[in-house]
Amino acid sequence: MSVLDLARPDLRTLVGYSSARMEASGGSILLNANESPWAQCGQLSLNRYPDPQPERLRAQLAELYEVNSDQLLIGRGSDELIDLLVRAFCRAGRDAILVQPPTFGMYAVCAAVQGAQVRRVPLSAEKGFACDVDKVLAEVDASAKDTPVKLVFVCAPNNPTGNTSASSEILSLAQALSGKALLVVDEAYIEFADSESLATQVSNHENLVLLRTLSKAHALAAARIGCAIAAPEIIALLRRIMPPYPLPSPCVSAAEIALSSVALRQTVQRIALICSERIRLRARLQSIDSVREVLPSQANFLAVRFADPDARYHQLLMRGIVVRDLSRYEGLHDALRISIGTPEENDAVVQALMQPVEVAA
Ligand SMILES: *Cc1c(COP(=O)(O)O)cnc(C)c1O
Repeated sequence: MSVLDLARPDLRTLVGYSSARMEASGGSILLNANESPWAQCGQLSLNRYPDPQPERLRAQLAELYEVNSDQLLIGRGSDELIDLLVRAFCRAGRDAILVQPPTFGMYAVCAAVQGAQVRRVPLSAEKGFACDVDKVLAEVDASAKDTPVKLVFVCAPNNPTGNTSASSEILSLAQALSGKALLVVDEAYIEFADSESLATQVSNHENLVLLRTLSKAHALAAARIGCAIAAPEIIALLRRIMPPYPLPSPCVSAAEIALSSVALRQTVQRIALICSERIRLRARLQSIDSVREVLPSQANFLAVRFADPDARYHQLLMRGIVVRDLSRYEGLHDALRISIGTPEENDAVVQALMQPVEVAA
């Protein structure tokens, strides 16, 4: 059996749109794509359609993530890759994805848009919100007859709790799901974690898909560059259902610069600063009266439980500090998520929270 047997049967044989850029490359007089022959005055040269998967950026990302470039698909943020995976593998009304709340909300949103069901196996606070492999497998098996689970999402480190699941657990889950479902491991925050990325394991597990992004550690959220790392057959399938020119040239240029050796050195230093600030901020928050718990974090944010979360949210807001309210997340109704900022910004958070809550007039 091939891993593509898990994909929607109607897509396995779909021939994707054949764009002018894909059909013919090279040449010096380009009259095959109905473009303007002139660039806009005063603008970058944007009159030509971009390369769908620019070679140089692919090579840079493949080197960064230590994978082959045929195991890599670049999209508009990892958000687009989540959407493509759901659309490629889930038949509307018939298949399901499995998520482990509290977790990143886009998995369920993409499933809803596709008409796929969402199975939920909640993470338990008592177990530090780590993935429970046996519970996930039991749910996948229980759903197999009615609504088969095609994609299992593990967010590691997990947003919004900040913990991560052990690599050995994740790999044993991939192994156990082989032939049943893809395991999609979202590593948006892996650069801030003590553990290594599982990217190189994609060669050993054909049903393992990793998501990486330049939006967090690489400081490029506005450029919308993310990657899926998976078996070449899966990459080829996703590419066929992706729009023909997904990557705007200015975004590709920004990513190439962010992956230059000078920029990468700075990124490494900034990751180290965020990690040391994470320790410092956590300790200071733990000494504040209304703070009940600061969850341990392997990411660039802290989930903080308060005795009075609403009041604290507004107290921060009054000083212009915007944090994320987690009250709608299972198991985190009393928590706020605070991203690690500059040392000065983190000081401002602590200073604000040390004040007594202003009583509304
Ligand atoms: C921020 C985030 C993303 C989104 O990344 P983009 O590449 O910007 O789309 C994906 N997954 C998780 C868990 C995130 O927190």
